[in-house]
Amino acid sequence: MQTYLELSNKERMPILGLGTWQSPLGKVRNAVKFAIDVGYRHFDCAHMYQNEGEIGDAIQDMIKERDLARNDLFIVSKLWCTYHEKSLVKPACQKTLASLKLDYLDLYLMHWPMGFKAGEEFLPQDENGMILASDTDFLDTWEAMEELVDAGLVKSIGISNFNCEQIEKLLNKPGLKYKPVNNQIESHPYLPQHELIDFCHSKGISVTAYCPLGAPNWPWSKPGDSSLLDDPKIKEIADNHNKTSAQVLIRLQIQRNVSVIPKSVTPHRIQENFEVFDFELSQEEMEILLGFTKRHRICAPDGFKCHKDYPFKEDSSK
Ligand code: NDP
Repeated sequence: MQTYLELSNKERMPILGLGTWQSPLGKVRNAVKFAIDVGYRHFDCAHMYQNEGEIGDAIQDMIKERDLARNDLFIVSKLWCTYHEKSLVKPACQKTLASLKLDYLDLYLMHWPMGFKAGEEFLPQDENGMILASDTDFLDTWEAMEELVDAGLVKSIGISNFNCEQIEKLLNKPGLKYKPVNNQIESHPYLPQHELIDFCHSKGISVTAYCPLGAPNWPWSKPGDSSLLDDPKIKEIADNHNKTSAQVLIRLQIQRNVSVIPKSVTPHRIQENFEVFDFELSQEEMEILLGFTKRHRICAPDGFKCHKDYPFKEDSSK
């Protein structure tokens, strides 16, 4: 049984979705189709992931082959950092809609608060590997995103990788028309994000947790990086419930009212990750899972750190 988060604009977002970053072409179409059959209705996409075309094909296949309508699905995509100039926001959204073969998105997120130099390259860099910033301000980018709501291209807009200060700045923007309904951030027991999640919830902003399994195949992980899926404390809790560590990590977010988007292209894992609505973690288990003192931020690219709007500057874990 799927549960939902009610967003501040009264739209409903299925609490569990399928992540699609690094879901390769040739595999992602079947992964999405399989996920729909298993019961997933929320799909987390992004222009940056360069696979929206195949995801769109899968959605179209399933609408034709199954008793499934567009509005049964909750499709999220994200505005990449090279499209922060106001004039580029609508074309970027239209490109994503064309790839996904949709006429609206349920939720469109600003992928990062940082604007990068516009152009073909996703990650424009200088000779030292530092990102080339644009002189855009995320408050202006937000205004262009608000126009997407008015134009009917997106139902809701939100943010991703914003810190408390940046959220406050956005909420205090003079003339703000639409509040962000969601902040998508990294969260798992080694980065529980207590403060940021409490802050978002206090402002009526729902939260989605990315890298919920600790991104075991993270391309830039180093030998010796800790693995959540192998953590003995998490395994022990999983054993108590006859569940896997992955299922416990997903259930943890659901029980703290946080949406969660584990990625997989492997059918048995897609299914496993959805079998999280038939057990409950006890209060004591929740405290153990949220009580780790180890801090490890996975998604903090070195080349981003020089950017004026890099969100994790104050963060002891990077
Ligand atoms: P996850 O924590 O979801 O881990 C994904 C990895 O775990 C894949 O390698 C997958 O392998 C493996 N896996 C999945 N299920 C299981 C399981 N049950 N047991 C063991 N291994 C498993 O990390 P992601 O980085 O993918 O994060 C999730 C999603 O969040 C992304 O796909 C993306 O949609 C979003 N995201 C957003 C970001 C942002 O900046 N807003 C940044 C990063 C991610 P396999 O596929 O081979 O089965």
